[in-house]
Amino acid sequence: MEPFTTHEVFNQPPPLEDLNLYSSDAALADSVAREGGGAAAKRLLAFGLVTGSREAFERGRLANEHPPRLKTHDPRGRRLDVVEFHPAYHACMETSFAEELHCSVWGHLATPGAQARPFAHVVRAAGTYMAAQMEAGHCCPITMTNAAVPTLLLEPELARPWLSKILSKTYDPRFAPAVDKAAVTIGMGMTERQGGTDVRANTTRAVPAGAGGPGRDYMLTGHKWFMSAPMSDAFLVLAQAAKGLSCFLMPRFLPDGTVNAIRLVRLKDKLGNRSNASAEVEFHGAHAWLIGEDGRGVASILEMVIYTRLDCAVASAGLMRLALACAIHHAEHRSVFQKKLVDQPLMVQVLADLALDVEAATALVFRLARAFDRAADARAAAWRRLMTPVTKFWVCKIAPLVVVEAMECLGGTGYVEEAPLARLYREVPVNAIWEGSGNVMALDVLRVLQREPETVEAVAEELGQGALGDRRLEAAHARLQALLHEPRLLDARARTLVEGLAVLAAGTILRAHAPPAVADAFIATRLGQTARQTYGQGCERADTRAIVARASPKWREPGVGTG
Ligand SMILES: Cc1cc2nc3c(=O)[nH]c(=O)nc-3n(C[C@H](O)[C@H](O)[C@H](O)COP(=O)(O)OP(=O)(O)OC[C@H]3O[C@@H](n4cnc5c(N)ncnc54)[C@H](O)[C@@H]3O)c2cc1C
Repeated sequence: MEPFTTHEVFNQPPPLEDLNLYSSDAALADSVAREGGGAAAKRLLAFGLVTGSREAFERGRLANEHPPRLKTHDPRGRRLDVVEFHPAYHACMETSFAEELHCSVWGHLATPGAQARPFAHVVRAAGTYMAAQMEAGHCCPITMTNAAVPTLLLEPELARPWLSKILSKTYDPRFAPAVDKAAVTIGMGMTERQGGTDVRANTTRAVPAGAGGPGRDYMLTGHKWFMSAPMSDAFLVLAQAAKGLSCFLMPRFLPDGTVNAIRLVRLKDKLGNRSNASAEVEFHGAHAWLIGEDGRGVASILEMVIYTRLDCAVASAGLMRLALACAIHHAEHRSVFQKKLVDQPLMVQVLADLALDVEAATALVFRLARAFDRAADARAAAWRRLMTPVTKFWVCKIAPLVVVEAMECLGGTGYVEEAPLARLYREVPVNAIWEGSGNVMALDVLRVLQREPETVEAVAEELGQGALGDRRLEAAHARLQALLHEPRLLDARARTLVEGLAVLAAGTILRAHAPPAVADAFIATRLGQTARQTYGQGCERADTRAIVARASPKWREPGVGTG
């Protein structure tokens, strides 16, 4: 022992670092392969190594411990309206840009007549799932940039110069006109003080600067109550025009190189998501171009929102995975009462039970990503339409529960900032709130039910097929059918319907593809009759050791070393 040390450190787990986030995650590797993305395994292994490195986790910590700062004015009182980020945030952006998470699914647009790459969404989802574990806040501008493309394409002429910059791999954070930059990011401004869900209550007004009409110049006056990533190069915003709520593309710089009249008023002091800046802004006659038809703003921006909803679910699944990996790693190394925690019968129940929800969430998000890839197929389109709100609802809702239980597995250490469970705990609720909160997702499912019953029928039929041969799944499917065909009180039962759909869908995927230990335990505990409100119950007959071994960060994809 060194002189002056009071004690020796022992029975403390080694740091969980230099982990390949791909090769150590059985549920991820299996999901990617199952949904057709296996050909990208080499690339994903390389990205898993980068995002799981000690340096990457350290950058994630720094980006959150040094949150962005708003500079409204220069020392002489002139307006600046810029946000300064810590270099670690920019490094995270560079990493995700290099992996093209902001654009990979649109790469084919660079070549006229080219087809979308098969499984591009599945592969991108795997990247997003890992990037969120490295650092979640920077995923916001990455997600919005990717999601903005379908809305931009409603005005192809207007989109062309922006698209060429979106498709760049080189992150360029400079506050400069887009034309002078190597790459751009795109943000989104819908929410106002008086309404975020109810965007029709928006009061921002748009007046044509000339003739008006799609693709033409307007001047916007008003505010946005939340506008994240305010250093984006342009924003898709909603404002009231002559015929009602309309969608606009608002650049930070005007074509003549001057700064657009967007005032950053203050940054939100948020629970989590601290590396990402979310601003309150004012538009003082800011210029913007109309996207789509005047009065069709909600329809136009919905093209974007469906993609951001996918990412919310994918990122939540990734954050749950990291929390679980931390919990199992701790339990594998920490001894209590002469036994490793992972060998304590009650702890293994908790860990296995947590792993079941992470398996289910992972299965659901990659199944959904595949539906985005195959949206030209009617069945896949039905899954995409109905299961996007269902998956976003369920995965984002259970994520905080998983994280808090995982935190407890680390005891007091879990509650301390470096763990990094505390950061994850503060981060996860946001995915349930933004891009359509829980009730909004449930109401969206009801909308599908009312307006597109054939979509619900197609998904219900697929789930019925998947349930065949499993008594519990068949019973759950019958319960769901009864709910679907009993319109009375459906408004009040919407969450029951959504949760039922999510759990049944996860059960059918796991039944068909996961190891029996996982599928059996998930179906028995989530679709059986056991009443349970907390983790660690109902798995006593399950092969909990097998479930935990598979979820352990020590797991390696067969044939893959530590790389
Ligand atoms: C960190 C952060 C960043 C954000 N960044 C952006 C951004 O970049 N751009 C942007 O436009 N917005 C952004 N938002 C705003 C976010 O999208 C909204 O907060 C969200 O859509 C909810 O709107 P609201 O806050 O006005 O709540 P409200 O619309 O008032 O809703 C409050 C609650 O009521 C529920 N509810 C709403 N309608 C119904 C109904 N009919 N029946 C039952 N329940 C209902 C909702 O589910 C919600 O739980 C951000 C928010 C956060 C927290």
